This record gives sequence, C-alpha cells and structure tokens, in this order.
Amino acid sequence: MVKIGVLALQGAVREHIKAVENCGVEAVEIKHKEELKDVDGLILPGGESTTMRRLIDKYDFMDALKEFADEGKPMFGTCAGLILLAKNLVGYDNPHIGVMDVTVERNSFGRQRESFEADLEIKDVADCYPAVFIRAPHIVDVGENVEILCKHDDRIVVAREGQFLGCSFHPELTEDYRFTSYFVDMVKEAKTKKSE
Ligand code: GLN
Repeated sequence: MVKIGVLALQGAVREHIKAVENCGVEAVEIKHKEELKDVDGLILPGGESTTMRRLIDKYDFMDALKEFADEGKPMFGTCAGLILLAKNLVGYDNPHIGVMDVTVERNSFGRQRESFEADLEIKDVADCYPAVFIRAPHIVDVGENVEILCKHDDRIVVAREGQFLGCSFHPELTEDYRFTSYFVDMVKEAKTKKSE
C-alpha cells in the first residue's frame, strides 16, 4: 500500500487529501520535513508560489524536497506547485525546487481571466476533463524527456517527465478524481519498481 503526502505549508491542502483518499489511498499532510520520509509520493498544491517558497525556506524544507526528488519518488505540482517544480521560470533568475525540465510562466492567462473552467483532453487520463484555472501559469517550453499530455488555447497545461507531473489547473477542486488517480498510479508503479 502506498501513502501520499500533500505539502501543507499553504494552499489547497485538504481538497487534495480528499481527492487522494477517494482514490482509495492514504493521504497525509506534510508540515515538517521529517514527515517526507514516510510517504511514497508528494503533491505540491496550488496557492501562491512566492508565499510557499518563503515558508519552504522558513521551515528548512528545500534540501529535503530535493532529496525526495533525487530518490526518484513521484511529485505532482498543481498550479503554484508546478511553479515550484520547474527548472526555469520566465522573468526570474533562479527556480524554486527546480527539478522538472520545463519553463513556466506565472499568471500567464491574462488578468481578464483571473479564473475560468475548461474541458480538457488529457492524454492517458480523460477525453473530457473539467479543469479549474485560477491565476494559472502555463508551460512555455519543455526539455527533451518531457511528455506533453495536454494543451489548452495552444498552451501546454499538463506535462510529465518520468517521476514528475505538473499541471496549470486545480484538479482537487472538482469531484472528478481521474487525474489524481493517474498520479496515484504513478506512485504505485514507482514503489513496485523500487521493491523489485
Ligand atoms: N498565481 C499563483 C502563483 O504564481 C498560482 C495560482 C494558483 O496556484 N492557483 O503562484
């Protein structure tokens, strides 16, 4: 059985816990870096990436998060979480955790579109998936090992690079758990591989 953590410094934490539990898997809030050792996969929720970064530094989380990535454990960044995972950020000299080979632009759907919903076709996940975007970032460029799973309005909004999954929207804000379930499967596969 796998256990999935949700980084619980700020943002939409409880909703992710509920989504993972709905997939039949145990989910726990991660408030201290030591707790990362107990989980097989980690969700980085949406919220405000600059605030989350401040809290990551304040609670000394950065090295532990990078080690988690180095161990090959799956990480799923949603919205602000995607910004935290990206290796490159448009307009910034340095990334945050900087482990996923994508370039991300913040707040890139324009001010007139603070939030909106769209039905997306996400490869390997769903033909019609209701996605909620809130001051969303998008992926402007991907490295060679990154697979693009979905575009919306010609912008990349879902991508995967092996153990890393990132999306521009908030999968935890609807009761459609197919995308969370895709990540849960990534975590199960990674754990099975490790124990082989
Ligand atoms: N605009 C936020 C940021 O830049 C992300 C928004 C979100 O997570 N809903 O961090």
